[in-house]
Amino acid sequence: MFEYTIKEKILNNKTILVTGAGAGIGKEAAITYAKLGATVILLGKTVSKLEAVYDEILALGLAEPAIIPLDLRGATKQNYIDMSVTIASQYGKLNGALLNASMLGELTPFTQIHEQIFGDVMKVNVNAQYLLAQALIPTLQLAENASLVFTSSGVGSKGRAYWGAYSISKFATEGLMQIIADEYENSTLRTNAINPGATKTAMRASAYPAEDKDKLATPADIMPLYVYLMSDDSLDVNGQTIKAQ
Ligand code: NDP
Repeated sequence: MFEYTIKEKILNNKTILVTGAGAGIGKEAAITYAKLGATVILLGKTVSKLEAVYDEILALGLAEPAIIPLDLRGATKQNYIDMSVTIASQYGKLNGALLNASMLGELTPFTQIHEQIFGDVMKVNVNAQYLLAQALIPTLQLAENASLVFTSSGVGSKGRAYWGAYSISKFATEGLMQIIADEYENSTLRTNAINPGATKTAMRASAYPAEDKDKLATPADIMPLYVYLMSDDSLDVNGQTIKAQ
């Protein structure tokens, strides 16, 4: 596991957007950030899941989160710009964005990749990430220091049989991250990517339905890296893909 000791209230006074905040790793990250003092903005596809996370955070007596229901498959560039402008006017700045939501599509031999599914995976995992980052950067730059975090995968740097569209999309994610990191190298914005490693979530279960899930890391287990990259302890880290495990 990535070695980092989480300090209490390390994210105090930070406003952090988490995409895919209704389930899996994104849900855990949103609640963890809130517990550490951040005000979190929960973006996701299924409103009921976002509301459940919202309720959980309020029940813990933490800062009231915001909910942004948005399907990354259908959202437009203007949706992202409007969202970013609203965050800027409501909170004055954005200290962090965890771009975590993505879709697996289907695992299939290369010659069988379905054009529609390939298109959907690219829309959610690539186009939406680029548009989100483009729209959010001006609001991230309003913060004294800001952290933009993409989510990659082991198949984002080494292709693997049958992982088709998903693997290609994660290579693109790493490219996006590196380009932004290089362009903003001498600025207050740092940009990195996390490779979570095998983690017990619905996405992992759909990729590996037969494996023993109790042997997997849980989303809670991998939080040290997620917190580190949002904290001021990582101010000098830029352009890296870091393994959470
Ligand atoms: P889950 O499937 O458990 O959660 C994915 C989240 O993304 C859900 O909240 C889901 O919302 C949201 N989401 C999916 N599609 C869209 C969309 N079109 N618009 C908005 N939100 C959407 O996945 P994980 O938690 O496992 O994965 C999180 C990230 O980690 C992903 O980027 C994944 O690729 C990466 N990863 C995960 C690994 C693992 O072992 N779990 C390993 C390597 C990488 P909803 O529930 O409403 O559909």
